[in-house]
Amino acid sequence: MITAIYPGSFDPITNGHLDIIKRASKTFDKIIVIVSMNPDKKGLFNIEERVELIKRVTRDIPNVKVESFSGLLVDFMKERNIKVIIKGLRAVSDFEYEFQMSLMNKKLNPEVETVFMMTAAEYSYLSSSSVKQVAMFKGCIKGLIPDDIISDVTNKIHNK
Ligand code: ADP
Repeated sequence: MITAIYPGSFDPITNGHLDIIKRASKTFDKIIVIVSMNPDKKGLFNIEERVELIKRVTRDIPNVKVESFSGLLVDFMKERNIKVIIKGLRAVSDFEYEFQMSLMNKKLNPEVETVFMMTAAEYSYLSSSSVKQVAMFKGCIKGLIPDDIISDVTNKIHNK
């Protein structure tokens, strides 16, 4: 039985993230999506809200669980005896950062493997920050994030 974690900031979850989660859930026995705070990124939703949005859009995938964690991923993984990290890759620009991070995690715990999944072509341009930008200027975000959470994002951005 192989459990993998899929970490990210998910502020908010996009269709690109969801695509990776769905594909990973067919490849591994169990996926734990981990919401963690990236100190370099200013947040729209707090951690609990992000977890709730991801739970809502993954509720029909039985082998996907959602949790939050602040700290080193390798510590979380050691505690739960998990060996695999899933990361999505969009463009060459993701590579350098992800490469560095996977080597650092390997250094911290040599048993950890990072598995990269290529983005689906139709979501390769998608990021949480571009979705927030479009929503801020009242552009249409349908198709970019799950329908179930569109009003949460527009209401949050426009303080309704
Ligand atoms: P973002 O860059 O959208 O803020 P996160 O920090 O939440 O994304 O990223 C979490 C993981 O999801 C990372 O491995 C990232 O490369 C991946 N990811 C983000 N957007 C996409 C996408 N459109 N397609 C595939 N993977 C993605």
